Amino acid sequence: MNRLIVISNRVSVPNAAGAAGAQGGLAVALNSALREHRGIWFGWSGQETEEFTGHLNMQRIDDVTTATIDLEPQDIEEYYNGYANRTLWPLFHYRIDLTEYDRNFGEGYERVNARFADAVLPLIEPDDLVWVHDYHLLPLGSLLRGKGVKNRMGLFLHTPWPPTRLLASLPFHERLVSSMLEYDVIGFQTEEWLGSFLHYVEKEMGLAINEDGSIDCNGRRIVAQAFPIGIDYDEFVEGARSDEAREAHDHLKASVRGRKMLIGVDRLDYSKGLGERFESFSRFLTDNPDQAARVVLLQIAPPSRGDVASYQQIREDLERKTGHINGAHADVAFVPIRYVNRGYPRRQLAGFYRAADIGLVTPLRDGMNLVAKEYVAAQDPDDPGVLILSQFTGAALQLTDALLVNPHSIEHVGETIKRALEMPLAERRRRHEKLLASVRDEDIVHWRNQFVAALFGRDGDGAGDRLARDEAA
Ligand code: ADP
Repeated sequence: MNRLIVISNRVSVPNAAGAAGAQGGLAVALNSALREHRGIWFGWSGQETEEFTGHLNMQRIDDVTTATIDLEPQDIEEYYNGYANRTLWPLFHYRIDLTEYDRNFGEGYERVNARFADAVLPLIEPDDLVWVHDYHLLPLGSLLRGKGVKNRMGLFLHTPWPPTRLLASLPFHERLVSSMLEYDVIGFQTEEWLGSFLHYVEKEMGLAINEDGSIDCNGRRIVAQAFPIGIDYDEFVEGARSDEAREAHDHLKASVRGRKMLIGVDRLDYSKGLGERFESFSRFLTDNPDQAARVVLLQIAPPSRGDVASYQQIREDLERKTGHINGAHADVAFVPIRYVNRGYPRRQLAGFYRAADIGLVTPLRDGMNLVAKEYVAAQDPDDPGVLILSQFTGAALQLTDALLVNPHSIEHVGETIKRALEMPLAERRRRHEKLLASVRDEDIVHWRNQFVAALFGRDGDGAGDRLARDEAA
């Protein structure tokens, strides 16, 4: 069997019960993919070193071999806090108002990508499949090609891909996208982001797109395709049935004392639309004063990227907003918003989701959004809650039986909360059944099989089999 070499910015392998804390969707997804593959996960340890040595720290945890490197403070500042999280992240989430263009960031980004390439090179054997993840490492494939790596290499982007007109604001955007064309497979979360990428390739680079969506460039054929990521459905459902989940459910239910509950679970990030969400809830309370004492919004939002100013800002804004809304609508016996800045073990989270009558998932822009899928998977099919989902998430293209909303419209979201609270049981069941089928069938295993098959040069299932290498390799 060909080994899989997974490369991502951070490597984090939670224990089998699932790590507590602010784990991103990527870590959750990769860990379950790697557990079944004989592979290596390479990336940054998250640790700082005074001077970069390229020393590999190898470990074996729960059937996954990890290889990590430490980075210098300047690397972390320019590559991670800089180009990745102050340039590409906001730009890819359509926030050019927050996008910073700093020459040092770009240089740091290229330097760290070159360091990744040097460090991982000795680990790559001729038959390995190389799978690179996310916006931190877009040029890595081309740097590895420059060092003679002939393996099949794929890139999966977990974020949105921005429209061409926005991307064109990035200095040296052509150089960045050209470097991506050294991969054999480029995967996106949805057809929408894929469409934006192909538009760029066609209009800005003058390359022709074949009918099947592939791109011919320098005598090679590149597959560009949408592979919507899913959750580890079996693991999540098993966790949702655990004693830990039940206890978390019962404890939370008891604490709301018969009130209806809405839940939001997000990393504290400006792309998640938390401010707009709180305002929508406030609008609902103002428009439905009889409901004020009967509902509560639980927002769980562990802080992330605290070294970046825009994240400090969003944190302050939300604290102010929560105080303001609670001040306006609270009574001696209740507060309408419970705002919690910490992570929870996944099983407890599953119990919280199940206890909530409404899942409120309203990002302004999100590559996929796994919380929406987890909420659906955690529900009691006989008495399921209602998912309210932003139309600007990748998940909205699959979860069409959710109540889809425009998160910018405070009125629309406020009215939709009312509609969800009043939804008859039969409609809740009907919608949930369809949502659940999508979440179950398009799960993480499906995603991985589809991507790995494309990486092998096949287009079907059975990616785990030993398959002949594609002629183009
Ligand atoms: P992103 O990758 O942008 O953070 P996703 O919704 O795709 O967004 O994935 C978030 C993942 O992180 C989900 O699996 C979710 O359960 C997990 N998560 C988010 N907040 C918490 C929290 N407070 N405690 C534990 N897990 C969390």
